[in-house]
Amino acid sequence: MSAQLIDGKAIAAEIRAEAKVAASALREQGIIPCLAAVLVGDNPASKAYVGNKRRACEEVGIESQLHTPSADISAADLLALIDRLNADAAVHGILVQLPLPDHIDEDRVIERLCPAKDVDGFHPANVGRLVIGLDTLRPCTPAGIPELIVRSGLEVSGQHVVIIGRSNIVGKPAMNLLVQKAAGANATVTVCHSGTTDLPSITRLGDILIAAIGRAHYVTADMVKPGATVIDVGINRVADESAKQGYRLVGDVDFDAVKEVAGAITPVPGGVGPMTVAMLMVNTVKAAQAT
Ligand code: NAD
Repeated sequence: MSAQLIDGKAIAAEIRAEAKVAASALREQGIIPCLAAVLVGDNPASKAYVGNKRRACEEVGIESQLHTPSADISAADLLALIDRLNADAAVHGILVQLPLPDHIDEDRVIERLCPAKDVDGFHPANVGRLVIGLDTLRPCTPAGIPELIVRSGLEVSGQHVVIIGRSNIVGKPAMNLLVQKAAGANATVTVCHSGTTDLPSITRLGDILIAAIGRAHYVTADMVKPGATVIDVGINRVADESAKQGYRLVGDVDFDAVKEVAGAITPVPGGVGPMTVAMLMVNTVKAAQAT
């Protein structure tokens, strides 16, 4: 039996369309939603991510600024740029594309952001609000996960969600989001990580299995409960001579085998990836609405 394919591309397009309606309502009130992207250095992957985000802004009707300091910018100068963007009333959201060069402490930069403009939802104040269930700017990748599930006609409430990965960007915020007593949440959540003993015995308990590991095809069919919903967050490059760039992108899940066991599954690409950008649009509109 082949699983239902969760179409992240289509769901992300639906969410961007909703954000566009909200952005145009703001424009009618004279508020032009604006996202400032800070891209330090010339990491090609970061450039591509920021390019995708700016294209989405254009589609949704969000103005975007691009700030491109060179990789040797001092920490003090980068913090001064953040201060300027924090103080600029025309800027509603600030996105600092990670990773930053080694000589810059990412935590310090994130902590310098005005929490109300932290559209990635990484500032400790926003993380804290998420943990205690207050309204906040939620980290984009985890926030996209319940949207994918619920908009595919599937249930989150009451389900046992097993997450593999405990990063601050995906695993932990996904846990904090899905455990809340709220719509699209209210799940029983288990978090597994590199210190977990006998991982397959735990992943097999998941009605919903979320893989955020960063290892190609790590989740095999025997690790999945029959009928489970499988959300693959991973983006990994594997060599592929037939591809133009010499590689292709695959998830953390062995898609071809797991789709025969799962009830529903996200592809890579075209699953979680487009949702991350769509949720950034939602957060930017939300930040602009709050002004
Ligand atoms: P990370 O490296 O910060 O965290 C990986 C986690 O996996 C760690 O918490 C670690 O404990 C766990 N892990 C590693 N090996 C394990 C093992 N053998 N068994 C159990 N757990 C293990 O990575 P991240 O930032 O959370 O990203 C995870 C993946 O998701 C990456 O492939 C990344 O590229 C991708 N990602 C995708 C998006 C998107 O928009 N689709 C966004 C963020 C991250």
